[in-house]
Amino acid sequence: MTPRLWAAVALGGLVVALLVAAVLLVPWHRPPAPRADQLDALRDLPQEQVRKGREFHSALRPGSYGAMLLGLAVTLALGLTPLGSRLVELVGRPFGDNWVARAVLGGLAVVLVAEIITLPLAAWRHTIVVRYGLSTQTWAGWAVDVLKSYAVSAIIAAIALLGFYTITRLAPRWWWAFGAAGAAALVVLLSFILPVLVEPVFNKFTPMEQGPLRTELMSLAQRDGVPVKDVLVADASRRTRAVNAYVSGLGPTRRIVVYDTLLREAPPEEVTSVVAHELGHAKDRDVFTGSLLGALGAAAAVVALYLLGGWGWLLRTAGVDSIGEPRALALMLAVVSLAGIVAAPAQSLVSRRVEARADAHALELTGDPGTFESMQRRLSTVNLGDPDPPRWEYLYSASHPSTVERMAAARAYARGER
Ligand SMILES: [Zn+2]
Repeated sequence: MTPRLWAAVALGGLVVALLVAAVLLVPWHRPPAPRADQLDALRDLPQEQVRKGREFHSALRPGSYGAMLLGLAVTLALGLTPLGSRLVELVGRPFGDNWVARAVLGGLAVVLVAEIITLPLAAWRHTIVVRYGLSTQTWAGWAVDVLKSYAVSAIIAAIALLGFYTITRLAPRWWWAFGAAGAAALVVLLSFILPVLVEPVFNKFTPMEQGPLRTELMSLAQRDGVPVKDVLVADASRRTRAVNAYVSGLGPTRRIVVYDTLLREAPPEEVTSVVAHELGHAKDRDVFTGSLLGALGAAAAVVALYLLGGWGWLLRTAGVDSIGEPRALALMLAVVSLAGIVAAPAQSLVSRRVEARADAHALELTGDPGTFESMQRRLSTVNLGDPDPPRWEYLYSASHPSTVERMAAARAYARGER
């Protein structure tokens, strides 16, 4: 068998493994609450709040989708014409024209072009978020955040690019196998290690002061069988009024993180309800599920790219000789971006089902649907959410059930429907 045939077999195996993992690990059996109940919940919300949330999201949409389309257009223009390969050559030339300079600096340049061209749209979004009072960040603070996130992405991208092109050089016929394993390992590593490494770049964390809330959260975790090391407070208020909480770390390093904004905005029993949802993610090992699906998807993508590299027309269009050379990076990015846009609705659906399970866990653990519902209302109000977003947007990109779905789920629980 040739490497190409092996790759086709491996791709088939990875796709089957991805489907089997998705069928077994995603809680598909938890459909949203009936639409009639959702509409009841919507009627119970203050109309002024619903109107403001909708207005805010309509104001954001042109910037968000504009950036998405413009970013895609730039990526396709670089990847599906010889422009991208020329850019990689051009950037590598002053640094000795060797493959390392092309792979790392050329690769970063290709990524940076799309980022910089869409930056004005990101700035426009920032003005809207400030105008609606959700962001508390100055332009200086915003710019520092942008630079920090570029730096973090550049470090990760440099490591990935250097690793990938080392493999394509050492194993020109079998790189897809090593590359698939490497991509899968990188996804797993990033989903477990990145939060712990990257969170401190953007926020400060301090242990929650001793008191009834801290005691309650620790004992909630204990009761749930999800031991946590500490409860930390993040200084989210330095950039936003939005409220949130999450659980990060594994086993002995696991900690509950609560935004300082949440402590300011919500009464203690609602904080407990949010944390109960987050403990649900830890208990059901949702990070593991997410990273397993991500790892299989990434491995399949690498093998698919290798197989696409056999398509002469595509290589000629991009002005490259082989998909495994650094000059073909823009072509790879173009293919991956297109695949990402196609895969987004499936990813959102999986995420919503996992989030609905964490909601059900919070209801079970606290046994308090009334507080859960008032917490959902508060999250939506403070975060300027659209409690019942347009259907197309919900299907394409909603990572969580809508506020009215979550309220309806709490009411179903209160009626005794489990
Ligand atoms: Zn969640």
